[in-house]
Amino acid sequence: MEKKISIAIDGPAGAGKSTIARRLAQEMGYRYVDTGAIYRTVAYFMDLWGVSPKDVDGVNRYIDELTIGIEYDEDGVQHMIMNGMDVTGDIRTQEISQKASLISAHAVVREMLLDMQRDIARQYDVVMDGRDIGSVVLPKATVKIFLTASAEVRARRRCNELAAKGQKANFDQVLKEIQQRDYQDTHREIAPLKMTRDSVKLDTSEMSIEEVIAAMKTIIGEKLGA
Ligand code: C5P
Repeated sequence: MEKKISIAIDGPAGAGKSTIARRLAQEMGYRYVDTGAIYRTVAYFMDLWGVSPKDVDGVNRYIDELTIGIEYDEDGVQHMIMNGMDVTGDIRTQEISQKASLISAHAVVREMLLDMQRDIARQYDVVMDGRDIGSVVLPKATVKIFLTASAEVRARRRCNELAAKGQKANFDQVLKEIQQRDYQDTHREIAPLKMTRDSVKLDTSEMSIEEVIAAMKTIIGEKLGA
């Protein structure tokens, strides 16, 4: 099988990874893989079974009961299928964000998802976003980009997103949750969020989505043309 192209996009919560990655994938005709959604699905499953995300034994015991499927609709939107049930809409809450961050620290969870993510990248050209794509999942990715922004800017964006959905958001609370997730994601033992030396860093604090996409296209074009 010919080697596939992979664009790895890592960065902290709220840096704009998914919006940007989805757009890029669409424009390039690649498959968009939102790996955070996979961790969220695990968190949602454990939550349904009443397993605390910090409970190592519980997570180890229940993980074999979980089958995760990833499907794409005609618009290229990724759907998460948990034991045959579409849970795409259910995993996007603040509560599941926090639980996913804790669940993702478990070795058994990371191992299970690692194979799944690598399998997709073996079969398709991908734009894959997450925390450890360039460092662990696809260390030989064609292009690695680390997207970041200040915690305040990320919290403001998240509040605007929630407001657009008609949900109330308290800026200080959202900021606190983002900082807590940053801490957990960068301090866990296995596959913590970190920028690899061969990544290109883009700080999007002062950039619009269009500017970020343009900058990314330049970075990708240079790498692919090289
Ligand atoms: O990106 P998103 O906010 O949906 O991710 C939810 C959580 O899943 C993150 O806070 C992180 O702990 C975890 N995650 C991860 N590795 C990835 C993607 C997400 O640990 N590749």
